[in-house]
Amino acid sequence: MTQITLVQGDITEQRVDAVVNAANSSLLGGGGVDGAIHRKGGPEILAECRRLRASHYGKGLPTGRAVATTAGRLPARWVVHTVGPVYRAEDYPQRAELLASCYRESLRVAVGLGARTVAFPAVSAGIFGWPLEDAARIALGAVAAAGPDLDEVRFVLFDAEAYAAFERVR
Ligand code: ADP
Repeated sequence: MTQITLVQGDITEQRVDAVVNAANSSLLGGGGVDGAIHRKGGPEILAECRRLRASHYGKGLPTGRAVATTAGRLPARWVVHTVGPVYRAEDYPQRAELLASCYRESLRVAVGLGARTVAFPAVSAGIFGWPLEDAARIALGAVAAAGPDLDEVRFVLFDAEAYAAFERVR
């Protein structure tokens, strides 16, 4: 049985096999959790992202998909980059399906690499504008529905408000 855990903290400090990055489709870095991962993980991550862009994702990584790179200097082994939907750019139910797909695809990639522990941020709930409680409901629902073969899926919520939202809908 995969344990689903909630912690308040910084995803870049998690000792897990894979940390998930709420990236944007360029894969070339951004703000929020993306900026923190590249800053702390160092240039190796960005170098691999650039290679992936050149080899597979000329137009960028599509929304709802996921791809892995090294985790550079982070304690994790891999970073799984996924692109959440911008809340206002998509309509329901497509946007909910795309957000659920981020979790499903990230888990699929992580399991494929042999990860046993995976940490997620609240994808799309920052710069991409998704209301926290709804984002939490979709995140927890998607992971439960995927039923991954892992030891732990850890949601790492950056602030008390995000942590409380996940606690409420769990
Ligand atoms: P998006 O563009 O998908 O909305 P953001 O990085 O802006 O992604 O925000 C996603 C969530 O990650 C937000 O709840 C934000 O507060 C949170 N966050 C930002 N930095 C970190 C971090 N270092 N660790 C964990 N969560 C973080």
